[in-house]
Amino acid sequence: MTVRVGVIGVGMIGQDHIRRLTHVLSGSQVVAVTDVDPTRAQEVADGLQGARVHATGQELIRDDDVDAVLVASWGATHEEYVLAAIEAGKPVFCEKPLATTEEACQRILDAEVASGRRLVMVGFMRRYDASYQGVKSAVDDGAIGTPLLMHCAHRNPSVPPYGFTTEMMITDSAIHEIDLVRWMFGEEVVAATVLKPRRSSKGSDDLHDPLIVLLEMGSGVLVDVELSLNIGYGYDIRGEVVGESGTASLAETAAAMVKSDGRFSGGVPADWRERFIRAYDVELQDWIDAVATGGFTGPSAWDGYAAAVVSDACLEALRTGTRTVVSQRERPDFYTKS
Ligand code: NAP
Repeated sequence: MTVRVGVIGVGMIGQDHIRRLTHVLSGSQVVAVTDVDPTRAQEVADGLQGARVHATGQELIRDDDVDAVLVASWGATHEEYVLAAIEAGKPVFCEKPLATTEEACQRILDAEVASGRRLVMVGFMRRYDASYQGVKSAVDDGAIGTPLLMHCAHRNPSVPPYGFTTEMMITDSAIHEIDLVRWMFGEEVVAATVLKPRRSSKGSDDLHDPLIVLLEMGSGVLVDVELSLNIGYGYDIRGEVVGESGTASLAETAAAMVKSDGRFSGGVPADWRERFIRAYDVELQDWIDAVATGGFTGPSAWDGYAAAVVSDACLEALRTGTRTVVSQRERPDFYTKS
């Protein structure tokens, strides 16, 4: 079966997903697109064989030729489209965030549970990165003993020139580590603290860069996340789990290490697209394969909700300067099946 996909939002990542669905992956065809900018939507559709443009996301979701929906529009619009896809009974891949408020995430959980079918996958692609999977295997198979700590670093060369705020360091950047550690340790984050080290002179007045986020897992595992958004030298994602009898770290990602003139060197990825290109491919192929067989896979609406409440706790910790307990509703049984 070829899964006929409709894409809502054809900005940067929407177009990148269309490229991979069309040229890299198998089993799908992009048959419809929409965007708040109709000219951009038309330009994207012109580059695809037989794709139509819809005036709105709602219209695209109702299109009988659309089997599954990919939401890559601005975060605040996600709730509306995910709810409409659930109502239409169509599988939906939603880029992170699932929604921008806890209440909106809850409405999605309630709608999906009421529909009786798992339809939502959230785009937390780091779970599909081979290096993170290697670290998780070492944790799961006991190779490093009981995990005690994890050190993470999330370093971007620079932030976009427009309006990137300190809060966005949590909601747009740390959100990936928040999901990642829930997946890595198979448990929830129960409390968060945010520390403000000496401020980099490279950020704007609205940006307190860097930050340290401390996440406490239910078992007591403590995770520290360094967020450095103006590191300059490249996009550098680091992670090391410390266990009772060993450590497991993300491998360096340079394609080759060059040794010459008494020195060694290797490249640092330029940005997140380069660093995680393969993870995005595996993630979306997984989704297409699941849709084709009527199944479900990947990070669920529950994972989107859980990340949102931890992110909210981090924002509160940032505002107040104090340790903030994460308050979460009870996980419906519906989401216990992996
Ligand atoms: P972007 O370049 O601004 O693209 C968003 C697109 O959606 C734009 O074309 C935007 O139009 C359009 N749009 C906004 N509201 C819409 C609506 N109501 N209906 C249809 N289209 C609408 O942003 P992006 O970087 O691609 O990010 C899109 C989403 O992907 C965000 O939620 C972001 O967090 C997520 N993302 C995830 C990752 C990841 O690593 N998983 C990486 C990047 C982005 P205008 O430009 O005219 O507003």
